[in-house]
Amino acid sequence: MEELVYPWGNTRRFNSYAEYFKKLFGGRVQKISVDAGFTCPNRDGSKGKGGCTFCSNDAFNPSYCHPQKSVKQQIEEGIEFHKKRYRRAKNYLVYFQAYTNTYLPIASLEKLYSEALSCEGVVGLVIGTRPDCINMEIIQLLKKLQQSAYIMLEFGVESVYNETLVRVNRGHDFEQSKEAIELATSFGIPCGGHFIFGLPHETRQQMLDSIAVINKLPLQSIKFHQLQIFVNTVMANEFKTEPASFQLFGMEEYIDFIVEVTERLNPAFMIERFAGEVPPRFLVSSAWSNVRYDNVLVQIENKLAFLNTFQGKKYL
Ligand code: SF4
Repeated sequence: MEELVYPWGNTRRFNSYAEYFKKLFGGRVQKISVDAGFTCPNRDGSKGKGGCTFCSNDAFNPSYCHPQKSVKQQIEEGIEFHKKRYRRAKNYLVYFQAYTNTYLPIASLEKLYSEALSCEGVVGLVIGTRPDCINMEIIQLLKKLQQSAYIMLEFGVESVYNETLVRVNRGHDFEQSKEAIELATSFGIPCGGHFIFGLPHETRQQMLDSIAVINKLPLQSIKFHQLQIFVNTVMANEFKTEPASFQLFGMEEYIDFIVEVTERLNPAFMIERFAGEVPPRFLVSSAWSNVRYDNVLVQIENKLAFLNTFQGKKYL
């Protein structure tokens, strides 16, 4: 039997960001994370202190990432590291990941981004930031860089519910995320959104209902993470003292949930990630600790096939 080709042009049951890049660059594209030594206005006191209650940048930084090394050195070491695993990748996107990567004077941003783009094999940048750290000056810089490279902004939105954002000390509200994404998109900068499922006090139904709100954002791509509680965070303490406020997803339960999310999701959004993966030593809760993302992805795709469903099936 011939397999169905979905509106995004292939037989996968979700609109895959990885497939988009393969098409765009004619082969596998590997992301290389760098830690360029940024800080965050929610940590240094200009927007808030203490940071988001879940924040642990250490948990996400690969071993080759260290702000004491230059951006160029981190990229070269990152390419070497990934070559051992994915020999096929020839194109690289530099991922400015740790902290808030637009939070420096414009001349310093231009220097860092240009250094990354000058490295061999680098075809573009993915810049992770907060919605309150974007302005016209930065957008103009990104427009300039966009003339010769792929440039994308990734916003931590985390939740559409302002009560949740206050609870996790995010220091901005959902409306700011919406405005920042709309502004960047209106100037032709593609935007990704990052969301966490399982933040304290949010019910499963609220999380599912949030998809209707997310669907209206002009996003190009989307990343979902199940809540993971990291050691040495404010949230780890809250988890210890108020465990009833948390409903952490078990893996099976999360796969069922994320399939429902996918069915409701705008089919135009490319999904970059369905779940998070960090080394077990960073986690307080160990329900998922030894599970690799590739394995979770296979299970999600199997579930979509088993239920004969796909991204956007229930999108209205
Ligand atoms: S905005 Fe990002 S870097 Fe800053 S505290 Fe929150 S999660 Fe951490």
